[in-house]
Amino acid sequence: MNPAPAGAVRNINSAAEEIPEGPSVFEDNEYIKLFMGYKDMGFTEINRDGMTIVQADILSRPSIRHAFTTRFGGFSSGVFASLNLAVGRGDDRACVLKNYEKLCAYLKTDPSKIVFSAQVHEDGIRKATARDSIGDIFSQIHYRADALITDEPGLPLMIFIADCIPILLSCPDVSAVGAVHAGWRGTAMNIAGKTIRRMCDEYGCEPENILAAIGPGIGSCCFETGPEVPGEILKLGLDRPEEFIINTAHKPRVDLKAVNRALLIREGLRPENIAVSRECTMCKSDKYWSHRATGGQRGAQAAVILTL
Ligand SMILES: [Zn+2]
Repeated sequence: MNPAPAGAVRNINSAAEEIPEGPSVFEDNEYIKLFMGYKDMGFTEINRDGMTIVQADILSRPSIRHAFTTRFGGFSSGVFASLNLAVGRGDDRACVLKNYEKLCAYLKTDPSKIVFSAQVHEDGIRKATARDSIGDIFSQIHYRADALITDEPGLPLMIFIADCIPILLSCPDVSAVGAVHAGWRGTAMNIAGKTIRRMCDEYGCEPENILAAIGPGIGSCCFETGPEVPGEILKLGLDRPEEFIINTAHKPRVDLKAVNRALLIREGLRPENIAVSRECTMCKSDKYWSHRATGGQRGAQAAVILTL
């Protein structure tokens, strides 16, 4: 778990050695074909004071700050080592707060301003305002939502993940942003598409102008499922479901990132405005927390976005 050298910046999706290991995704021709459409949409790894975060190039604009965090560069120890951002999983609170302060210093914001939600693997969307800022990061959240949206500048939206798929959204025209937590249930409920619709309804966004980054999450290399998952995904009615569902002699595997990408495109986003991380949290469970790899003994990384 050694972080990258201080000051290191590299494009992680262009480095061949960074392709997820495990049952090779590149044995699946459909998977290769899928990636060819967005192979140029990059993510960049940034190291600052030992803290490693991943950013989508498409969201790296002067008016936006965002991060997909990793395990590297925090103060927590044991199963929470080290940049744990989960507030209710038993980690030392002083360490968690220091982790938030370090991340927020990079994002040029303050932990007290962050908006969290209680994530429940459903399709609830919270229109966040400054009144939702957490204040004390350990305080109780009184609403449930798996997606957060806002058009208020300086309001950081944060969702937590440890295998599920994080999606950050930005509509630069109206300075609106969104953060989506999409596990397989949320994906099957089309939380991604519903969040786009809500941003359009609330803020007047045009889907064709919305930028999306689908961050590190479990890949089709590792997401083996029971039959209920492909069954629910098929109900979405997407074209070419064979591109998302890989039937093997053992168990089916599902490409949740590709499903979410397809849902965003169906909602009107331009394919070239959607970046998809190749990193799999389970293949890279030294760099990211993976619920499956750890059996649930884990911290959590986060995806966060705000406008200035
Ligand atoms: Zn994997």
